[in-house]
Amino acid sequence: MIKKRLLAAIVLVAVVASCGEGQPEAGKLAAASLVLTNARVYTLRWDEPALDGTASAGAPRDEGGWYPDAEAIAIQGGDILFVGSNEDALAYRGAATQLIDLRGATVIPGLVDSHTHVFGLGALLDQVNLVDVATEEEAIALVVERAKSVPKGEWIIGRGWDEGAWANRYPDKALLTSAVPDHPVFMDSLHSFAGWGNQRALDAAGITAATEVPVGGEMRLGDDGQPNGLFLNNAVDLMRNAIPLPARETLTNQFLLGLKQMAADGYTAVHDAGLGTLEMSILEELEARNELPIRVYAMLSLRDEDLIRKWIEKGPDGDADSMLVTRTVKAYYDGALGSRGARLLYDYEDKPGHRGISGDGYGFNQELNAEAMKAGFQIAIHAIGDAGNREAIDILEAVFKDDPATARNRHRIEHAQVMSPDDIPRLGQLGIIASMEPPHAMEDKTWAEDRLGPERIRGAYAWRSLRESGARMTFNSDNPGSDHTIFYGLHSAITRQDKNHEPEGGWYAEQRVSAEEAVRAYTTWSAYASFREDRTGVIEAGRWADLTVMDVDPFVLADAAPGRILDGRIIMTIVNGAVVYERP
Ligand SMILES: [Zn+2]
Repeated sequence: MIKKRLLAAIVLVAVVASCGEGQPEAGKLAAASLVLTNARVYTLRWDEPALDGTASAGAPRDEGGWYPDAEAIAIQGGDILFVGSNEDALAYRGAATQLIDLRGATVIPGLVDSHTHVFGLGALLDQVNLVDVATEEEAIALVVERAKSVPKGEWIIGRGWDEGAWANRYPDKALLTSAVPDHPVFMDSLHSFAGWGNQRALDAAGITAATEVPVGGEMRLGDDGQPNGLFLNNAVDLMRNAIPLPARETLTNQFLLGLKQMAADGYTAVHDAGLGTLEMSILEELEARNELPIRVYAMLSLRDEDLIRKWIEKGPDGDADSMLVTRTVKAYYDGALGSRGARLLYDYEDKPGHRGISGDGYGFNQELNAEAMKAGFQIAIHAIGDAGNREAIDILEAVFKDDPATARNRHRIEHAQVMSPDDIPRLGQLGIIASMEPPHAMEDKTWAEDRLGPERIRGAYAWRSLRESGARMTFNSDNPGSDHTIFYGLHSAITRQDKNHEPEGGWYAEQRVSAEEAVRAYTTWSAYASFREDRTGVIEAGRWADLTVMDVDPFVLADAAPGRILDGRIIMTIVNGAVVYERP
């Protein structure tokens, strides 16, 4: 009996395999666990677009523009069984099949945010949110409100004030101290390159004029010669390190809070950019308890030497299928452009004599980085300035020469934000991926040219130049420093306009990418960046059933009314064949 069943199962598999897609034979098919119908499915299984963005000959596009290349998907367990017409997909329907009529919604391969900070996102959802707060007074008012429900003496943490936008009017402790005298208050900036606290926080941290300031950091002093509460770059850690660590349970809850938010926002996977020992142990525990709602591709922080040494000994994860995969090391090479920490080849346009900080001066451990590369890890190295990028490429290239096997591990430059024209072609030549954030261009455009001047700005946020040079790319948000909403990301990438549709025609519009390139950069190309291009990134039989469903069609809107992409909403997120989010 058992043998007969086994044989029947083998025959069934053979039938499915021999029919191929598009021609299932009713009655002989493996039953699907889930069938999605009446959708506008863009499978992305046609050939890649040309480097100038022109769609390939096989793409579902004609004089009238884009059109979906399938309308239904049948799923069995965690994998896609079939993609094609409604009629053919329904042939996979069995007694226990769940059927979902998507009523014209758009389906694309599961979105991946390939550079996130989920603990930060979760903490932000838990803390005083200063994102989009325009002034010091406004920020303080929010803290005063929070202080009403926090016992005196306990820390109040805020996050998200924009150190780039506030760079010429940094706040100090004075107003904050008088408004909130009884709680230590510390407020981290949007991109973590600046921090601001009150006197109670300085006292709690034991910070005085005599405090030694770390290399690559700045502690501002007031007219009285005492710390004025404002810290920049590496000096921000003086304050951060003084804040009592949240309990493990709080961190675990914050991580899940962040991950569930990403699922609700359409993401089926995140790459988490820089995890330490405690964070990794929380992730491992959540995976063991089977509680990760979406996939996590972990990047180990090079700043945590014990953790890196442990992983060098163990070697990178080989199994791409588990919900948590660890095979990447996140390295930090220079600072950020807004706070003038990014390392430039020449002086900042708006701060003569200043070129930012990088490498040793920024705490980058070159030997440990090389050891991790030789142990088979992918390196994701943060580089923003044109000198930062050049030096980071030089460092990777030197290890490739020393040990050619290391060159195959799809190393990434995180941000690749300002690049000299001489260095742009090197990424493609060396097989280094440019990992970039379309929204950063929109958020930085008001001051980026002040920092760089009219020439260097042309190599900044240069998506099209990088594509044309042959570099592979992946797009992401770098949240919580930036809004990870996919509609904002796609809109930024396709239009080079901000949420207010400014500027008209787009900011350095020649660097725009097409709708297809933008979608691929969050799906197909992110799959490549995580060594999963055979499992996901394209909707095709045999791949993971990781899918994102939305109520706008970004392909059609990009041609017809790109501004309306911003109005899009996520309808459903499917991971491993299970609906992990459904819009109420
Ligand atoms: Zn980051």
